[in-house]
Order: sequence, then structure tokens, then C-alpha cells
Amino acid sequence: MWLLRVILILVVFWVIALILGWFVKRALLKKIQTFQKRESRPTEVAALVKCAQCGTYIEEEKALKIQNKTYCSAKHAPPN
Ligand SMILES: [Zn+2]
Repeated sequence: MWLLRVILILVVFWVIALILGWFVKRALLKKIQTFQKRESRPTEVAALVKCAQCGTYIEEEKALKIQNKTYCSAKHAPPN
């Protein structure tokens, strides 16, 4: 009879572990999804600015800003 009890306890623990695992998995997936959303947002809404020299549009982060004007590269920026 003790063997049956041990098996029953093991089954109960196994079910609890399954449920806990499912909850953890769901929480992790949610976290990953929100992280991916945050990661992909900057590239989606990246502001474009025009080069004052050649007119090429470049991402604002990569543009050179000199005297309130933006340039695509150091070659197009005015020499100092
Ligand atoms: Zn340029």
C-alpha cells in the first residue's frame, strides 16, 4: 500500500511541477515579447534627416550636426 501512496504523491508533485512550468513559460514568453517590442521600436520610428550637401536622407543618430545643419558624412560637412 505504501508504494501506491508514493506513486500518488509523485503524480501530485508532477502535476504541480507541470502547472508551475506552464506559468513560468507563459511569464517568460510575455517578457520576451515585451522586450522584442521595445527592441524593434527605435528602428521603426527612426527619424530621418536630410544631408544639407547632397540631399541624402540618413538616420538622425548617424547624421553629423554642424551649425544647425545635418550632413551624411564628414566629407559633406563644411571644413572648419
Ligand atoms: Zn551628403
